[in-house]
Amino acid sequence: MLALLDDIMEGNGTEQTLEILDRTARAVQKASLCGLGKTAPNPILSTMRQFRAEYEAHVFQKRCPAGECKALLVPEIDPSKCRGCTLCAKKCPVGAIKGEVKQPHVIDPEVCIKCGVCSQVCKFGAVVGVG
Ligand code: SF4
Ligand code: SF4
Repeated sequence: MLALLDDIMEGNGTEQTLEILDRTARAVQKASLCGLGKTAPNPILSTMRQFRAEYEAHVFQKRCPAGECKALLVPEIDPSKCRGCTLCAKKCPVGAIKGEVKQPHVIDPEVCIKCGVCSQVCKFGAVVGVG
């Protein structure tokens, strides 16, 4: 079950992953002989029931609405904080950041490989991860 959750958190989950996770959790709950085994799958079963939309966002949109799954974060530049210093654009290994000097810069999500360098080098906290 942990491996299946890891797949979902890393953006490798599919509809089948959700089905297998659900079936495995139910099987463990039903087949376990001790109380620990019967209750261990509860967090999975209850979150899949209560927060189904979050699971589906991870699997179908490769998005983490809570902004907790690092592999799914898409960095964005807050134009109100960006000073247009160009440092992030110079350091981006794939040229995903465009912008003129002293103008807010923009990240192309199609090109970005989510390395996090732009966030590390920006001295103005203008790069934010968006789930
Ligand atoms: S490093 Fe920060 S302030 Fe400079 S261009 Fe990039 S986002 Fe803007
Ligand atoms: S996360 Fe990495 S690849 Fe994406 S825009 Fe920032 S520096 Fe470029």
